[in-house]
Amino acid sequence: MFITFEGIDGCGKTTQIRLISDFIKNLKYGIILVREPGSTPISEKIRQLLLEKDNVMSPEAEAYLYAASRAELVKKVIRPALKEGNIVICDRFLDSSLVYQGIGRGLGLQAVYELNAMAVGELKPDLTVLLDIDPIVARSRLKGRDRLENEQLDFYNKVREGYLYLARREPERIKVVDGGRGVKEVFEDVLSIIKKSIGR
Ligand code: C5P
Ligand code: MG
Repeated sequence: MFITFEGIDGCGKTTQIRLISDFIKNLKYGIILVREPGSTPISEKIRQLLLEKDNVMSPEAEAYLYAASRAELVKKVIRPALKEGNIVICDRFLDSSLVYQGIGRGLGLQAVYELNAMAVGELKPDLTVLLDIDPIVARSRLKGRDRLENEQLDFYNKVREGYLYLARREPERIKVVDGGRGVKEVFEDVLSIIKKSIGR
């Protein structure tokens, strides 16, 4: 089973993934945790290139780099892990590219889909947990982390709306959770979604 977590910066993905992975481990499932961009040697190098603040690049170059990182991760880690019967949990996946580059940076959903076709092939998450949060609340959580400061709230509003649009299009796969609450409240919702989906 392939599960992804999505949401804007500061939505709490990483925290919720840590909590849910402890729960799944206790059930004695094999579980592989990965993040995008990253989680292979090449993909982590691409991550550095992408997240280095001084590396201002065109949206097109950015989209290709995310896709390249994803191609490597899918082929080297995700597909083999799924084949062995593990539950794979990924912090961000294709939906991030669709909304950040496709909508936020304006490249268009279709263009970003096409650009990622070779990277993902037929692979699609069985379940996507979208932690929805107001960008102003998210930003206040990230105080002290520098990445967000440079981006306009306007950009994050677009990204947030993009995610909600995808969720309306694919309600079966993408489950929206109100991420603006405390860690515990959010986790209760996440847990019940995951339990349903793995049949527990
Ligand atoms: O918190 P996380 O590790 O997921 O952050 C990765 C960074 O990459 C974030 O700042 C996010 O805004 C950015 N990103 C992006 N486009 C993507 C995926 C992530 O701009 N497709
Ligand atoms: Mg994170």
